[in-house]
Amino acid sequence: MPLRFVIIGGGPAGTQAATTAARLGAQVTLVERDLVGGAAHLWDCVPSKAMIATGDALDQIEESASMGLVSAMPTLDTELLRNRINGITERLERQATELLVSQGVEIVRGTGRLVDDHHVVADTADGERTFEADAVMVSTGSRPRLPEWAKVDGERVLTTRDAYTPPVLPQHLVVVGSGVTGVEFVHLFTSLGSTVTLVVSRNQVLPGKDPEVAAVLEDDFVRRGVQLLKGARASGIDVSDDGVVVRCDDGRSVSASHALLAIGSIPNTESLGLDAAGVEMDGAWIRSVDHHMRTNVPHIYVAGDVSGKLPLSSVATMQGRKIAEHVMGLHKVGHRHLDYEKAASAIFTDPEIADVGLAEADAFAEGRKVRVTKVPFASTAKALINGDPRGFVKIISDPYTGVVLGGSIVGRHAAELISVLAVAVTNGLTVSDIAESIFVHPSLAEALTDAAE
Ligand SMILES: Cc1cc2nc3c(=O)[nH]c(=O)nc-3n(C[C@H](O)[C@H](O)[C@H](O)COP(=O)(O)OP(=O)(O)OC[C@H]3O[C@@H](n4cnc5c(N)ncnc54)[C@H](O)[C@@H]3O)c2cc1C
Repeated sequence: MPLRFVIIGGGPAGTQAATTAARLGAQVTLVERDLVGGAAHLWDCVPSKAMIATGDALDQIEESASMGLVSAMPTLDTELLRNRINGITERLERQATELLVSQGVEIVRGTGRLVDDHHVVADTADGERTFEADAVMVSTGSRPRLPEWAKVDGERVLTTRDAYTPPVLPQHLVVVGSGVTGVEFVHLFTSLGSTVTLVVSRNQVLPGKDPEVAAVLEDDFVRRGVQLLKGARASGIDVSDDGVVVRCDDGRSVSASHALLAIGSIPNTESLGLDAAGVEMDGAWIRSVDHHMRTNVPHIYVAGDVSGKLPLSSVATMQGRKIAEHVMGLHKVGHRHLDYEKAASAIFTDPEIADVGLAEADAFAEGRKVRVTKVPFASTAKALINGDPRGFVKIISDPYTGVVLGGSIVGRHAAELISVLAVAVTNGLTVSDIAESIFVHPSLAEALTDAAE
């Protein structure tokens, strides 16, 4: 009899675990209460990047005079934009569903919960269904954190989930929170034409990021007319018929048409029956006890945002794959554990910002000897051809062995280019390995070979 693997939550972690385990021979049941593809497709990665793509297209048209083009500025049709986003989401769901079904995964539409450590109940439109499981994975994701000091109404005071389908574009938006999500929404709404104020609780946007990188982004925000309220924490929002007033704890306040809260997320763990199954928590998150993402109950695994590890779709996918392989006994002999330190990540602003591995500032903070090489994109023909010479490539390597330890890229297509450094960091390649690769000319990637010399 095949191993019975039941997964609760069909986001990136759940769908990947399901396809991998099914391919390896498991009998897989995936319980999803909403959309196959998860919040990543419905609320987070896909709609935000689709809106950013529209904003970027508008930015490019605005700057097209420098490319020798003269055109009238198009206007935004929010209805068309909404249809486009829905179209992408529906297509991705269809593709994910077809893949799962073709692998023999049973998709159960319903809300899943554990009733003990070997049984999952799904509440479906047709009533309760119970599944016996040899292994269970919980990958129920997370949702935006709501503050005590403001009431989200979805009309004037928004979370990221309300921001994709505005009937009209906010005239003046106050974004609270200057982490990755906050700055992406600042970029997105300024591109689409809103006036934006950003409440920054510290003294730089993207707290914790390389100050040099944050400075490039702040310059772009200033160029776009974004007002930065630095060193201020939002402490209240007053709502009226025609707008909001966001109050800060230092006495400052800002009036606007809308406010958007991007202040982190909380895990979806309610009513999951974790107690009944004996699964221990780590605060609000589900605790994993080893590299295999097992909980304290060895055949119950946790993956994705709900695990409280790095909240990225890419990481959730990799966790799902590794868990499925472990469930199917593939990791009995040596294999490479998922190393969160080596996960590439990107911020989809203008310019894009991408990082992998060791950051320069962290190396210095640790007193670690590193070699840092930095090459501006302006030195490449392609950046000049693109009419966008901003940004740079920075490679951090071991000064003795040349092994690439990390890197940052700021500039156009940084989110794509960082993959080269991610391969190097994950596989212990050296700067010579990069420098001796023949890249396309003209291309932005040539800055990588130059920085690796
Ligand atoms: C605005 C925003 C933009 C982002 N952009 C990016 C990006 O560009 N790149 C990136 O890598 N990451 C991005 N992220 C993070 C990314 O969205 C998450 O890390 C990712 O969605 C986590 O995947 P997951 O599998 O854990 O869960 P999710 O995608 O959250 O999916 C969980 C699923 O579980 C289901 N579920 C929950 N409870 C139950 C239950 N009891 N029974 C059945 N089903 C249940 C939910 O309906 C959902 O479908 C972004 C996040 C936000 C907020």
